[in-house]
Amino acid sequence: MICVSIGRGRHRHMIAEFRHLVDEGAQLVELRLDYINGEVNLKRLLNDRPCPVIVTCRREQDGGMWKGSEKSRQLLLRTAVAEGVEYVDLEEDIAAEIPRFGTTKRIISHHDFAATPGNLDEIHRRLCRLDPDIVKIATMANHWHDNVRILRLIDQSEIPTVGMCMGEIGTPSRILAARLGVPFTYATFHHERALAPGQLSFSQMTNVYNYNMIRPDTEVFGVIADPIGHSLSPLIHNAAFQHFKMNRVYLSFRIPREDLLEFLTDAPDLGVRGISVTIPHKEAVIRHLTKIDGAVLGIGAANTVIFESDKSIAYNTDYRAAMNSFDQTMGIVPGSKQALSSKTALVLGAGGVAKALVFGLKRRGATVVIASRTESRAVELAKQFECQTTTWERRHTVKCDVLINGTPVGMHPNVDETPFEQHHLRPNMIVFDTVYNPEQTLLVKQAREKRCKVISGVDMFVNQAALQFKLFTNQEAPIELMREQIKRATGAAKL
Ligand code: NAP
Repeated sequence: MICVSIGRGRHRHMIAEFRHLVDEGAQLVELRLDYINGEVNLKRLLNDRPCPVIVTCRREQDGGMWKGSEKSRQLLLRTAVAEGVEYVDLEEDIAAEIPRFGTTKRIISHHDFAATPGNLDEIHRRLCRLDPDIVKIATMANHWHDNVRILRLIDQSEIPTVGMCMGEIGTPSRILAARLGVPFTYATFHHERALAPGQLSFSQMTNVYNYNMIRPDTEVFGVIADPIGHSLSPLIHNAAFQHFKMNRVYLSFRIPREDLLEFLTDAPDLGVRGISVTIPHKEAVIRHLTKIDGAVLGIGAANTVIFESDKSIAYNTDYRAAMNSFDQTMGIVPGSKQALSSKTALVLGAGGVAKALVFGLKRRGATVVIASRTESRAVELAKQFECQTTTWERRHTVKCDVLINGTPVGMHPNVDETPFEQHHLRPNMIVFDTVYNPEQTLLVKQAREKRCKVISGVDMFVNQAALQFKLFTNQEAPIELMREQIKRATGAAKL
């Protein structure tokens, strides 16, 4: 079950959000009395309530907004109990002051906004001694493994425990706890109004992660990155899983560089069966895996890992997707090795995507010239794959049949930028922009105007996600559904 927290300054707004949430399917709502400006009118909030509530009134020291006296806060909580609210949230130090009464269930809570402390078990034992119906522990995750510690605590507890890590690193714990049968998890009314760091909205929890369908045997997938940003992968993979009614969920894991090995070690025990890998882990991940496919070895980077019994296997679907997109546009028979032997390709950028593309272009026999803002990276990449280089400033002088943008230039929000001036584009040139947000980058628009053949980043993104889906599930992906999801998320559907 999802408990949606509402914190509004005015009673009217709180009641309106409460009713709206119930219309949207919420079954439990937390009323954060500390957000109300001025005197709290409990009766007004509780009368005719459309679903059960948790009444919470947090002090500033516990991350709340309460400005009144401690005496009046406790009076409010006692009154809520006397009014017969379904749950009341009591911090450890006041639990003994608010006696059990009637049918109200007691949530005894502990918050730590700085860290997940070493003595988590001891804190939990203390809370369990305070006559709880439910224990709640929310701590800040500074390392990936903090999530695992909280999840183990939930798993081992005899008293129902709602445990979660806060912060972006801790967000997965809010969803993974469902596999352990937690009584509920917390979500916020709107994703831009989180009441605790790392909280997801009710809509994200239900529409993207399908939280209420997560069970102990739900298989877990996800993307690992740092920063995690607004990755589109959860949107498209979860939509595909839900399309086939699969018992699977796909999460965003923010994994700092130094936590990578620990994550890979922990993952199988948490039910993780496969991951997408992105910046900054694509290269580092390889040395921790048991099996590596040929393309990963050649490129030196992986973007997909599958966990299979005691094996972890690396793949690179970026490379295959880029080449599939290429073959479709060029009419190349898949797998033909020298199809580009008479072509010159100019690759802009020398990062992960450029590397995958250079590997594929060389395999198809193309002459490749690399231009990168940081010249030494271009030189290094060229050495690895026997390519030529030019400086970033002289990139327009290269006579090329294929132009590839492997830089983020043109990506949202810098949509007025292009990495290549339009008057150097020629009709029938193949222009491949790997940027997918937006799909219609300035480079793509200008290339179309010049009657170039265009491959968009969305083509590649959908292709690579579809290949990952196949690796994750052994089934063909619903490609059109995935494409629609990306277009809707990036606003391209409106174009
Ligand atoms: P990366 O490893 O960080 O490499 C980025 C490359 O772009 C580097 O060579 C960097 O040069 C260069 N660059 C960055 N900002 C630049 C600027 N303002 N002007 C000129 N060059 C610049 O990143 P990546 O993983 O290769 O990703 C690059 C882009 O590919 C992403 O932004 C994304 O849009 C796209 N991508 C698309 C897909 C897809 O499926 N369509 C998948 C992955 C990535 P320096 O070394 O000088 O920083």
